[in-house]
Order: sequence, then C-alpha cells, then structure tokens
Amino acid sequence: MAGAAFALCLLIGWLAFRSLFAYHLDHARRDALHRLDALALSLEAALARHETLPGLLALDPTLAALLDAPHDPARLAAANVYLEAAQQGAQVAVAYLIDAQGLTVAASNWRQPRSFVGHDYSFRPYFRDALEKGLGRFYGVGVTTGEPGYFLAAPIRRDQRLLGVVVLKQQLDALEQALANSADPLLLVDGNGIVFLASSRALRYRSLAPLAEPVAARLGDTRQYGEQPVAPLADRPVRLDQPGPLRLALPGEATRERLVHARPVGLQGWQIVELGNPDEARSAATAQATVLALAAAFALGLIAHLRHRARRREELRRVHASLETRIAARTADLTAQIAELEKTKAILRETRDAAVQAGKLATLGQMSAGISHELNQPLAALQTLADNARALLDRDRLPEAAENLAMISDLVARTGRIVRQLKSFARKEVPTPQPVTVDRAIEHALLIVEPRRRETGARIQTPAPAPDRRVIAEAGRVEQILVNLLRNGLDAMAGQSEPLLVIDCRTVGDLRELSVRDHGPGLSDEAHAHLFEPFFTTKPAGEGLGLGLAISRTIAESYGGTLTVRNAPGGGAEFVLALPADGDSDAPPDT
Ligand code: ADP
Repeated sequence: MAGAAFALCLLIGWLAFRSLFAYHLDHARRDALHRLDALALSLEAALARHETLPGLLALDPTLAALLDAPHDPARLAAANVYLEAAQQGAQVAVAYLIDAQGLTVAASNWRQPRSFVGHDYSFRPYFRDALEKGLGRFYGVGVTTGEPGYFLAAPIRRDQRLLGVVVLKQQLDALEQALANSADPLLLVDGNGIVFLASSRALRYRSLAPLAEPVAARLGDTRQYGEQPVAPLADRPVRLDQPGPLRLALPGEATRERLVHARPVGLQGWQIVELGNPDEARSAATAQATVLALAAAFALGLIAHLRHRARRREELRRVHASLETRIAARTADLTAQIAELEKTKAILRETRDAAVQAGKLATLGQMSAGISHELNQPLAALQTLADNARALLDRDRLPEAAENLAMISDLVARTGRIVRQLKSFARKEVPTPQPVTVDRAIEHALLIVEPRRRETGARIQTPAPAPDRRVIAEAGRVEQILVNLLRNGLDAMAGQSEPLLVIDCRTVGDLRELSVRDHGPGLSDEAHAHLFEPFFTTKPAGEGLGLGLAISRTIAESYGGTLTVRNAPGGGAEFVLALPADGDSDAPPDT
C-alpha cells in the first residue's frame, strides 16, 4: 500500500516534471524568440542601411566615364577619389568599381598596398547578381583582405548597356559585438547552414551539418569564406527545428544540452540561432514537480488518514451496533425471565391464597375446639356448684348454699369475661391504659386457672402482697396474659410429681417485670424460635390454638411493654411480661 502510494507520487512527480519542463522550455523558446526578433530587426536594419547606396553611386557619371576609358589616368583618379569620398561618407569598409568583365578598375583603397584595383571578382556572386538582377547582396570573406563583410553591388548602365558594377563592402563588426554580449551562444547562419557570424570566434565558419558536395563545390568557386575549410559545428547535425534539448559538443566545450532557437533574418535565407541552456527550465520544473509530488504525497497521506478514520468509525459503529444488539437480546432475555418469575410468583400467590384459605378453615376448627374447651370447664364448675347449692338448700344449710350461689355468680361473671376476651381477639379495640393493681390481676388469673391447677396438682408460688404495685395497662388484658402464661406452665408440667409454678414481680427502671417460671421441660429450639408466631402450637388438636402467646405479646406491646421468654437456669421456661410501672417506679423492688 505504502509502496503503491510512493510509486504513485513518483509517477505524479515524473508526469508533472515532463509537462512542466515542456512548459518552461516553451517559455524559454518564446523568450529566446523575442530576443532573436529584436536582434533580427537591428540586423536587418543594419543590412538595409546601405541597400540603395550602390544604386546611387552608379548614377554618377564619373564611374561610367572611367568604364568608357579604363586607361585614362585622369578618369581613373577621379573615380578613385569619388569612391574614396563615398566610402568615407557612408562609413563602409571599401567602395570599388568593377568593369563588365569583373576586373576592378577603381577602388576607395587605391592608395593602399592591398588595393582591390586590378583584381578579378567576376567569380563573386554579388557581381553576377548585380549584372543579372540589378542588385547583388553577398556576405563573404574578402578575397583580397581576408576580412569578412557584406557586399552590396549595383550595375552601371548606359543605354541598356552594362558598363560595370559598383560595389560597397560593409563590415558587420558592430553586429558581431552585439552578438558577443549574449549570455548564450548566438549564431548567424547562411542559407547553406554555415555560421558566418557568432558570439564566439570559434564558432565562425562552421556548418550546422556536414556540407553536401555541390554546396562545398560552390563555396570553393565563390570563395565565399576564403580558403578556410568549413567543418561541422558538432559531432552531430544541429537541426534548427529541434523542439527539445540537444546534446552538443561545441568547439572548446564539453558535451552539454542545448536548446536550439532560430529565426529567419534578411532576404538571403539567413537564420539567427540561439543555443539556449535548458538547465533553468529543468531546475524550475524539478522544483515544481517535487512540490507537486510532495503535495500529492500529503494529499494521499491525508486521504489514507481520513479513510483510516472512517474505517475506525465504521468499526466502532459496528461494535456499538453489535453491543446494542447483545444488550437488546439480553434485555429481552431478562424480560422473559422476569415475566417467568412474575408467572411463578402469581402461581405461588394463588397457591398461598389457597393454603391460607385451607389454613383458615383449619384454624376455625381449632378455634371452635379451643373455645368450647375454654367454656366447658366453667360450665362444668357451674353445674357442680348449682347441684351443690340445691343439695344444701334441701338440707337447709342456707349460709353454705348462699356461698355456693355467690361462687356461681362469680363463675358466670368470669365466663362472661372469657367470652368478652374472645370477642376482643376478634375485634381490635383501641387500648385505654390505666393503673392496674398487679396483685389483683394475679389473684383473678389464679382463680381462672384454678380448675386446671387442681387437675395437675401443681403448687403456685406468688410474690409477697403489695397493694400499691401497679402497671399502666388494662386489668382484663393483664389477667388474660397471666392466665395464658399460667395455663401454659401448668400444661408443660402436666404429669410431673411435684409441679411448681413461681410467679414473681420486680421493678426495673420504668418497667415492672412479672415473671412466670415453671419446672417443665423448657423450650425446644424450634419452639423458642416460633412460639410467638400465631398458630404455633405443639399441643394436640382441640387443646391448643397457638394464639395465646401471639395475642399476649401484641397486648403487651400495645401498652409499650414486652413479652419475652428464656429457658430458666435450673430447667423449665421463664416468661417475663414487662409493663410500664405506675407512679411508684422508684419504690424498692418487690420481693
Ligand atoms: P397454645 O397454648 O394454644 O399451644 P400458646 O401460644 O399459648 O398456644 O403456646 C404456644 C406453644 O408454646 C405451646 O404449644 C407450647 O409448645 C409452647 N409453650 C408455651 N408455654 C410453654 C412452657 N411454659 N413450656 C414449654 N413450652 C411452652
């Protein structure tokens, strides 16, 4: 992946380099062509400056006069002077006159040792062109002087007859100077591809390509560039329409790349050529392509980063979604479990309701048995007392009969109390606490349990009398609790040889503690844990309801007291009823 990205960046860099290099080359070409345009214009202006001068000189009769009589010394002198004046006036290198055969008859340099006079220039193209076309233009190396120059020639005619040719040779030094100032090599190339002017002398008289045979022959004929051989410029032809860089070894230089820019100049098929340097374009393109490649690398990096982030986000989203799915599944599972639980609970509730219903019926049965048992004893006692009273009345033992009747009245009153108590179990009444004398409550309770005591033959030990010992409760309720405790104690000791029940009372803080201790078997663990629960009983059906202790504790608590039990140290159970003491709680504890 990273390798592919790297390769892509390289490719982008390479493509960018190619197009940028082409762009910069094009730019360089346009710049070069602008420069060449300017140069070509000044060159053309320089070449055109004297274009009409030979024609003007030809009109002067002095020259024609000499051509009429070439050996006339006066005419010759006049012509020489004239040409010399023209040369100086026009500031050209030489002005000279050639007769129709090509022989120079007069010249501005007639005084100088290397005067043109007497030389035959019939082989020079400008001579022939002047004769044939009316104007000869030629650039070449002077046959006589060996100096290059631009030759302009015009014919001298009289009556359509050609008398000769007047020639001006112009040196292009200034132009060469201008070329030499250029940073890159500049060449002025003729129609045959031969460099005749250049920014460097070494480049002069070199051809862009090896010369074709006829061209070489013509050069020899015209001696255009004198005697010197024309060698190719580089080891391979320089093409002027070359678009890209060309590897060239110019004379005296190592091989290097060149850009060839060319533009035609003048009327003779010349070209002005600049051999530019592609380095600048290349380094600009390299720098820009590098920046582009780096930008591409950055962009690719950014894309990779963004894609990575998007992938991470997608992954997170997937994880999240799967988590949610799992949570939903788990929730559904839990909901199903809860529904199952609810169902189970409902079944349980129904079962329990049914059980309660069944329990209630059983309780009803037990209660009926219990109540009839509770009432049977006083009824039996009443029966006996009533029978006794009748027997005593029969025997006229009236005082005893009255005593019996009083006992009957007492029993009836107590039976009524039992029924009231049963009623109070059924209906919850608002307690109305008041002082209750403890001794009286004990006395009444003992009276109620008396028949049972007799049955068991038990001895009941009571605390020493204390008429002011009172608790805050209700007399009937305190008696009810005591009866229950006494009866349970007697029941527990049933069948024992010397059953003993001990009732005691003491004051602890704000409370009076009434204790009933038996010498029975004591409490089993199970009984100890449950005996205050309603309907807990170990007695046979019909004898116990299992309500006594539950109701007793509820009553005690309704007055702010407690009912507790423990196994007494010497055996047997000890129940303690604690009730708020009335007033004299500071009195010394009862004994
Ligand atoms: P019931 O007397 O109708 O059974 P209680 O609530 O009075 O109802 O007593 C509940 C049970 O507590 C009794 O069945 C018995 O097992 C146990 N119990 C009560 N008092 C004593 C005691 N003094 N000794 C041993 N067990 C007792």
